[in-house]
Formats: sequence, structure tokens, C-alpha cells
Amino acid sequence: VRYCKRLPKIELHAHLNGSIRDSTLLELAQEHDQRGTISSYPNVREIILKEDRSLQECFKLFDVIHVLTTDHSFITRITKEVIEDFAAENVVYLELRTTPKSNVLTGMTKRSYVEAVLAGITKANLVLCENHQLHAHGIQVRLLLSIDRRETTDQAIETVKLALEMKSHGVVGIDLSGNPVTGNWKTFLPALTYARQCGLPVTLHCGEVHNPDEVEEMLAFHPDRLGHACVLQESQWERLHNLRIPVEVCFTSNLRTGCVKSICDHHFAWLYKTHYPLVICTDDRGVFSTNLSSEYAIAATSFDLSEHDLFELAKNATRFIFAEEPLKRHLDRIFAGVEPNYR
Ligand code: 5GP
Repeated sequence: VRYCKRLPKIELHAHLNGSIRDSTLLELAQEHDQRGTISSYPNVREIILKEDRSLQECFKLFDVIHVLTTDHSFITRITKEVIEDFAAENVVYLELRTTPKSNVLTGMTKRSYVEAVLAGITKANLVLCENHQLHAHGIQVRLLLSIDRRETTDQAIETVKLALEMKSHGVVGIDLSGNPVTGNWKTFLPALTYARQCGLPVTLHCGEVHNPDEVEEMLAFHPDRLGHACVLQESQWERLHNLRIPVEVCFTSNLRTGCVKSICDHHFAWLYKTHYPLVICTDDRGVFSTNLSSEYAIAATSFDLSEHDLFELAKNATRFIFAEEPLKRHLDRIFAGVEPNYR
């Protein structure tokens, strides 16, 4: 784990509200409790601290988290903390994703939500600059805006338009996520197609549950990356192999939510063996009590990878980022600079 922590790493699949520290969530719950704004969840502490969660229980937890994080100041705070936590384990590039939300009670709009996240990124940068001796390479942060499968076509298009307007502020792509048994992904096809036409890369949560028709259609859409891709049919694995769409692999999340039965059954083994483009990620470091270094350590111990293999995995991930070319070259230079120490 020590090697995995020292290794510069790229994180491409991290949901903001799934990456909050437990201590912060508990603090926010207490604050809401005092204000009387969380009365519909009397057992909020147990919900937050529960260890094993099914996929559906995770979405219940997200509903609770979303009640706790309705203030702009909370959004800014959690963003800053999440970035600090990734920086502390040598993540040099973080593509954080989050679903812009509106809330009439708190006066929040999708736009003001994203602005609060951007304020958190700025705050984190300031703190990390002050402590630059602790973070030799710094951390570059970019944002993906997520579309939740509960949304309508119009809401999804609003998110894409917002992403386009915020491009110069570090928004680099669009994600489709949310409860995989909810909604029909075709609802979002107009928004996703529009994003693509406007040059915004798209990543899709795909194959978290058995839904071969949806997987088929998602592969036909040919997104820029795929999240998870756990439950595919034999012919779809073959198709994926030819398409070479980079896959965001999240071991702990897949095991905890039951998308994959055991680590021995994880598709990483096959993807890795066939030199398939992939990147190791956390998904929800708070919800699943993990971090990126631990996910690399899981890869090492479960699939017998050497330190050099882990270094190559981390380095190759720069190929799949959605950010601009000069940043890719900056990250390549970081890996080239440290490579001799990792041979
Ligand atoms: P947020 O977008 O609110 O910052 O992060 C939490 C949201 O991300 C959840 O409500 C859900 O829509 C999405 N999410 C987080 N983890 C997962 C996951 O494992 N699978 C899917 N499909 N969506 C997820």
C-alpha cells in the first residue's frame, strides 16, 4: 500500500457526493438535526455508518447525502475536502464528477450548484499551493457534469448546456449515472448526442445490472469512456474488445454492490491480460470507505501485478483523460520525471 500511495495517480471516476468524509457527513447531519431539517431520516447516523450496502442501499444513502448537502457553502466545503484527500495520496489529476442540482428551498440552481463546486476547487488549490512541499506535483482538477437517470430530457439538455458554458472553468465532459434500474437511457440520448456534437466527451455508467439491450445500445453510441462495464454478454465482451472504449474499473464498489461476485470473477483480469485500455478508479471513496491507493493495492494482490505493472497502469491512464492536450503532456512529464524511481 505504501508503494501505491507514493505512486502518482490519475482518478477518472469519482462522484463528489460519494466521496465525502464520514466525519464531515456526521457533522452535517448534526447541523441539520439542530435545525430540524432532517426529521424524515431519524436514523441518519446508522445510514451513514453502515458498512455493507447493496447497490439499492447505496442509492438510499445518496438520497440522504443529497438532503445534507443542499447549501452552497456545504458543496464548496465537501469539494475542497475531497480534493485535499485525493491530493494527500498523490493523485496528480482528478476528474471529479457531480450532478448539478436545483433546490427551490435553498435557492439553488444547477448553475449556482456548479459555481459552488468551482469555488471549492479554487479553495483547495489555494490551500494546496500553501502546502506545496507536501504535494510535489500538485493536483490538477477537472469537472464532469453528471446526468441522473431520474431526470427528464430537458433537464439533461440543461446540464449539457451548462457544461458547455463552463468549459473555460474546467468542465471537460458529461457523465450518465444514477440508479441503473431507474429510467431509460434513451431519454438522455438527445442530450448526449448534443454534447458529442459540441465536442464534449461523454462517459456512460454501463452494465451495472443485467440489461443486455441497454448495453448493446450504449456500445452502439460509442461513448468516450465506460464506467464499470461489469455485466456484459459473451458477444458484447467481444464487441467491446474491438471497440477499445476505455473502461473505468472500480473494484471495491463493484464488489460491495454485487455487480461482480468476487474479485476472481472481476473482468479486470481479462481486460488487463488482453491489454485493454482501462483505468483504476474509486467511484465513491466515502460511501465505500476506500481510496485510490487501496484500489491499486487490490489490483496488485489479486492479480499478481508488480510495482512496475502498477506504474505502467497509472501512467497509461493519462491517455484517457478528457482534459486538453497541454495538460496531458504535463502529466506525461510528471510520470517521465519519476519513472527511474519506480523501475
Ligand atoms: P453527486 O453526483 O451527487 O455528486 O454524486 C452522487 C451521485 O452519483 C448518485 O446520486 C448517483 O446518481 C451517482 N452515483 C454514484 N455512485 C454510483 C454508482 O456506483 N453507480 C451509478 N450508476 N451511479 C452512481
